[in-house]
Amino acid sequence: MNKPNLIIRIHNYNKVSLGAIIGACPPALLGNFNLLTWISDEPTPLEALSSRSLIVYSFMLPHIPQVRAELEKLRQADVKAETIAGGSQATAAPESISELGFDYTASGECEDFFPQFLSEWLTGSAKKGIHQTARGQVDLDRYPGFSEITGYLPPIEISRGCKFGCMFCGVPKLYAGTLRHRSLAGIEAIIKEYFRLKPTRKRIKFLSSNAFAYGSDGRQPNLTALKELLEMLKAVGVPEINLGSFPSEVRPDFVTPEVMELVTPYLSNKTIVMGVQTGSNSMLKKMNRLHTREQSVNAISLLRAHGFQPHIDFIIGNPDETDEDQFELIDFMEEMLQKYQVRIHMHAFVPLPATPWENKLQSPINDKVKRRLRELEQAGVLDGWWENHIGYFRTAKG
Ligand code: SF4
Repeated sequence: MNKPNLIIRIHNYNKVSLGAIIGACPPALLGNFNLLTWISDEPTPLEALSSRSLIVYSFMLPHIPQVRAELEKLRQADVKAETIAGGSQATAAPESISELGFDYTASGECEDFFPQFLSEWLTGSAKKGIHQTARGQVDLDRYPGFSEITGYLPPIEISRGCKFGCMFCGVPKLYAGTLRHRSLAGIEAIIKEYFRLKPTRKRIKFLSSNAFAYGSDGRQPNLTALKELLEMLKAVGVPEINLGSFPSEVRPDFVTPEVMELVTPYLSNKTIVMGVQTGSNSMLKKMNRLHTREQSVNAISLLRAHGFQPHIDFIIGNPDETDEDQFELIDFMEEMLQKYQVRIHMHAFVPLPATPWENKLQSPINDKVKRRLRELEQAGVLDGWWENHIGYFRTAKG
């Protein structure tokens, strides 16, 4: 009997999440399938889809229109495929995925769920509809976090979740307020596998909501754990250690003199990305950031003093943000530019699902502030998609 097809729908934006769930499946389980990839703009694999198939999707809010059009094409082609979707949108708003016509929706962390689901699908016993997975449960050490089938060796996820609760951010709810760390042995095993697969690889990057929180309780740095991590990376012979730069970043209250003295000698990255978000203490309170403007300034100054280029995330247009808050923000940015030559990564507030502010509206952005932001952009010191995201959420959901 022919094996059914397991078709992985790969785009640049989902290689990390798809790699994590395919990597979580034992080879013996995958051996029951004809494993295929369907990458980016490749034509729909209609021939394969004429026999029993499962297509695996993972996507975010902005990709919905594209995915909807693709599903419509599959329906018109009358193929024998079933579809399953996971990813951040399925996790935050599973009904919005079901409505698109997926047979199965996986909402939540999927490393424990997906292999079990595949076994059931093989026997025809998988239940259609939304599968809510247990939140905050996955033990990172049980899974490698990548699969060769995506053709990509992603930044290694050293920690998952966050103990803070910023109003604009979905991370705490998605991971049930937990912060879990991958063990040193687990990280070392992945690095060795990366070097086996790609011996010429030099740079190893990491994935974390707050890189300097590795091994900590999430509220304050754990210097011992950070040192052990960096020592292990050095001992394994990682030529270029990148920590605190994209796709990980750091919080200002974790950039302390002790942390900077510890990490600086080990790091190859010249830039550290830090979420500062706003320049006013009243707005920081509304955002529930639990740090102050003064801590942000200290952190920026420390990064500079240790030779790093601070690349600072800011958000404008937050709910209940006043003109005064916005002028304070742009003044603050200009002060930081002048004193510390920071780079700015600018965002406009978007009410993301699964965040405390999911039902809030973006505040209008003052025209004079907008002009000054554009001037910074033209001067080459500000980047980001902030202007594309003004009013963005009004169409993304529809
Ligand atoms: S923005 Fe960062 S610190 Fe705040 S809740 Fe999200 S992950 Fe945590």
